[in-house]
Amino acid sequence: MPSRRPIVFGNWKMNGLGRDARALADALKGQGRPAEGTLGVFPPFTQLAAVAERLAGSGIVVGAQDCHEAAKGAFTGSVCASMIADAGATAVILGHSERRHGLGETDAVVHAKAQAALAAGLATVVICIGETEAEYLDRRTLAVLDRQVEGSIPAGIDAKCLVVAYEPVWAIGTGRTPTIDEIGQVHAHLRRKLIGHLGEGGRSVPVQYGGSVKGANAEAILGVADVDGALVGGASLDPAEFTKIFTAGGGRFAAPGS
Ligand code: PEP
Repeated sequence: MPSRRPIVFGNWKMNGLGRDARALADALKGQGRPAEGTLGVFPPFTQLAAVAERLAGSGIVVGAQDCHEAAKGAFTGSVCASMIADAGATAVILGHSERRHGLGETDAVVHAKAQAALAAGLATVVICIGETEAEYLDRRTLAVLDRQVEGSIPAGIDAKCLVVAYEPVWAIGTGRTPTIDEIGQVHAHLRRKLIGHLGEGGRSVPVQYGGSVKGANAEAILGVADVDGALVGGASLDPAEFTKIFTAGGGRFAAPGS
């Protein structure tokens, strides 16, 4: 069992009507307060306020899956960081591969969004980075990650507000993962890179692994040195599976009501 306290976040993506989101939030809350480790959920915008209200006081972090880089204005269909904070959320995922590769989001945009999120008072930005399958096969993973760290993470960021999620694009939603050795090598590299980019603060920035994490592989992945937690997509929609990942990584709940 890993001895570090894992940070396990669930990205619900574009899933969940009101009743689903309420049921998921209630099931998680029913587990009790996270006593070792950090647990968080990232519902769609439409469910953010309801889930934040439901989980208020539970110790479970609630965040959004994206924000706009501007503070407000004529950006039809977009949501800015102060609206996310106003909905009761405290965190935001930025630069998810489905936005980088599906919607053409660049490092510079992710960088601007991170600054906007912190300026609006959000406590935590989760910045996602990761190589495509072609880059992986070309052995360009580390170079791609270096470029994404430099381009996406503001160098002056308060390290306490940052979580980095390493998510190989080819592992997201596919059931495939890198080997445990590969995950270890990448995370060790990222630790050095974050120290180089952020200075001493980079030493304590949590780095999650994301990509097909399930209850069955969580202990092995979260047991890797320098893996500080997991960003979970599909499996976070099943509360039993999601909490299994958390506890397999060394997380613990206090008894309900305590
Ligand atoms: C994700 O979307 O960030 C993710 C890791 O998805 P999955 O766990 O389904 O691979």
